[in-house]
Amino acid sequence: MSLRTADAGQAVRARARMVERLRTQGIRDERVLAAMQAVPRHQFVDEGLAFSAYDDTPLPIGFQQTISQPFVVARMIELVRAGRELGRTLEVGAGCGYQAAVLSQLASEVYAVERIRPLLDRARSNLRPLRLPNVRLKLADGSLGLPEAAPFDTIIVAAAAIGLPPALKAQLAPGGRLIVPVGAAEQRLLVVERQGNIFRESWCEAVRFVPLLAGTE
Ligand code: SAH
Repeated sequence: MSLRTADAGQAVRARARMVERLRTQGIRDERVLAAMQAVPRHQFVDEGLAFSAYDDTPLPIGFQQTISQPFVVARMIELVRAGRELGRTLEVGAGCGYQAAVLSQLASEVYAVERIRPLLDRARSNLRPLRLPNVRLKLADGSLGLPEAAPFDTIIVAAAAIGLPPALKAQLAPGGRLIVPVGAAEQRLLVVERQGNIFRESWCEAVRFVPLLAGTE
């Protein structure tokens, strides 16, 4: 029997083990850990992969894209949160919708954009049963941000950019924070913090993401 059809208790215990592992890996933000405990990750992957849903590994979600490993999801949110409320949040690269669901536990509003239409449809059907009223999904090229909903207190990019996309920097609210993996073969997480009109950049750990691509399909 897959986790998807298993009793909820089994999935809750698998998530509790995942959260304990995240703690030993160094995730300290209790709000992030609680959000990771709350979201049923197994409901975002194919039924055949549900048993691996709580392992610390990326998983295929179709269309040559992957759902990031739990540690990377938790670490990026911890870094971009830095103890603040996330507020109005833009996620670029909604994929299967998992990270949007985690963000929904911490943000006032989540705008999650995805450039591949069938993936966006999948995210929509994954998120529907969770009834998260503060998540909005949109088909868009997120390297241009989402001008109609800007500015954002938080921007989190789930695909690797060659450099900091200027539109995202421009759509960051004063006091806001942005995180984006930057690089080609080798990538590092870049955190940008806006204070007034000053942008402070800091580089964090090495990561591996699918590329941020232009246009929609
Ligand atoms: N956060 C996702 C996984 C992201 S995988 C989850 O929780 O499942 C990266 C995603 O970014 C892919 O789905 C890819 O199609 C998308 N992507 C890449 N470039 C993009 C762009 N310019 N705008 C929006 N989405 C983009």
